[in-house]
Amino acid sequence: MKAVTEKTLRSPAEMVEAGLAERDRLAELAQVASHYAVAITPAIADLIDPADPSDPIARQFVPDARELERHQEESADPIGDGAFSPVEGVVHRYPDRVLLKLVNACAVYCRFCFRREMVGPGRGALSAKALAAALAYIRATPQIWEVILTGGDPLVLSPRRLKAVLAELAAIEHVKILRVHTRMPVAAPERISPALVRALRVPGKASYVVLHVNHPRELCAKTRAACARLIDAGIPMLSQSVLLRGVNDDAATMSALLRALVEARIKPYYLHHADLAPGTAHFRTSIAEGRALMRVLHGRVSGLCQPAYVLDIPGGFGKSPIGPNYLSDNGATIEDFNGHRHRYRNSSS
Ligand SMILES: *Cc1c(COP(=O)(O)O)cnc(C)c1O
Ligand code: SF4
Repeated sequence: MKAVTEKTLRSPAEMVEAGLAERDRLAELAQVASHYAVAITPAIADLIDPADPSDPIARQFVPDARELERHQEESADPIGDGAFSPVEGVVHRYPDRVLLKLVNACAVYCRFCFRREMVGPGRGALSAKALAAALAYIRATPQIWEVILTGGDPLVLSPRRLKAVLAELAAIEHVKILRVHTRMPVAAPERISPALVRALRVPGKASYVVLHVNHPRELCAKTRAACARLIDAGIPMLSQSVLLRGVNDDAATMSALLRALVEARIKPYYLHHADLAPGTAHFRTSIAEGRALMRVLHGRVSGLCQPAYVLDIPGGFGKSPIGPNYLSDNGATIEDFNGHRHRYRNSSS
């Protein structure tokens, strides 16, 4: 039986107590928790059906002994953030935009997290001194057009703290776009309060919020209402999802997710191929499977629903689209959404 939880579950024992994991798995789960942060908020606990052994929400958040299996190609820094960090808290890989990591904590800890070796409670926020140095770097680098707040989850910060940081960024003339990557509307929708929404809406700059969401059930009524508060305040929303085996790697689930997003006025942006984070092999599909899924989506769900399928190249080389290709014969043949091929003669002068 699942108990109603009012507090965030922060240990395997609490998860067992809440009925989210079997008691006989406690020892192995404790071993996982000694390596990687765990947390399940009441909102997430609410979404889990403990009677379903393959529940796609439980799979994302309840620790699993397979996380202890380390594969050779996996890496503690799978997307190479370390190699492109000019000052603490900043990742500058592309010329016109930087990541600013204000915090390393999240409201929940996804078992497949690509930054799982870096995130966790008590890993703290950027110190005042480090934040000043990060802001100084952004101020001194005029090609930075966009600042992306990520982490961890930047929305674990109080509205007051966020407002202060965003005001500093907004005061930088060449920074035009403020983007926030978050899982908070799913993990704790009540935290998207009017004060937080006001903090994110910065006069004179465009704010965007990108929601990390992987399964249609995560877009429950409370989450949709939280997103509507942001969007109604003039903050456009996009989504990013990770392609996860046993969670969303089938066409029916993925279509339902993408349509639910568009119905909530959230534009699907990226579908990430799962990164080579340690102990996450049981979540990864092959790229061929990902491309086959994208092919099914093409033409069968609205163009508004289509994300770009991307791979973050290990080593820090950035993201590249890896979706299926419809041209062949050097561009002389094009395939339609039914799989029929057509000759195409391009003329340009
Ligand atoms: C993903 C990422 C971005 C954002 O890339 P977009 O394609 O603009 O969404 C920026 N910087 C780094 C280091 C990234 O990993
Ligand atoms: S919310 Fe993002 S950073 Fe936090 S655990 Fe999940 S994937 Fe990792």
